[in-house]
Amino acid sequence: MNLFDGMITNILGQLNRISSAEQASLKEPSRAWRDVGAHHMILGKEMAYELGGQNTLGLSGCLYTTKPLLYQQGVYLYGRDLTQITEHQSYARIVFVQLEESTDEDALYRKFREIDYVRYHIHPEGFMARISPVSQREPVRISRKALKKNISFRDIGQLYLEQYQKIAQVKNVNVIFVTHRDFDYRALEEMFGRAEQITQSLNHIFTSLNMDCSTCSLKTVCDEVEGLRELHFGQKNHRN
Ligand code: SF4
Repeated sequence: MNLFDGMITNILGQLNRISSAEQASLKEPSRAWRDVGAHHMILGKEMAYELGGQNTLGLSGCLYTTKPLLYQQGVYLYGRDLTQITEHQSYARIVFVQLEESTDEDALYRKFREIDYVRYHIHPEGFMARISPVSQREPVRISRKALKKNISFRDIGQLYLEQYQKIAQVKNVNVIFVTHRDFDYRALEEMFGRAEQITQSLNHIFTSLNMDCSTCSLKTVCDEVEGLRELHFGQKNHRN
């Protein structure tokens, strides 16, 4: 099930336009940033700045493939790190996950859901992500205290990476942070929106008995995304 491969290629193409001097592979030994275990508030007076605050965009999305990823497992940064930022600005957290090849589409779908669960269950200290399940937007408040403790994308990324690594059949994960001013955040938001539509179609395909395309609200997506309709009717044959 490689429905997101075109998007992964497209995003990598956009990232490669950023000058290599402003790209970093944050692979060096890292300790995961502390997870406080539950949602915590960072109030306005405790906040240093917001990624995605005041007319800027904060985005997050996870895309899956069973093909080898271009980069080896790790955390990558395009732009400035958290302690170098001083004001609200746009930001993106992009995760690419490579899963083991499988002919069991149903098992792959369940794996997507398991991986998606990670997003809602990480609470880094001083890094308050406001996640919306119906939108790709993820504004993040950074606390003054966390900056004093030298919070970094490397340590935050390591925290995410360690959670993804615990999931069976995950072969490779790239956690990519983008803060570069020249990155096209609007284009990424559109792409994540598209990925969300595909995910909704997958939810329908694997959980609903309605197979009448003429009455299905996802028809437009299935008309445009190669492989979705075949997947649904393949599932029908499989169930029969
Ligand atoms: S294949 Fe048809 S029924 Fe299935 S999700 Fe797509 S439009 Fe809906």
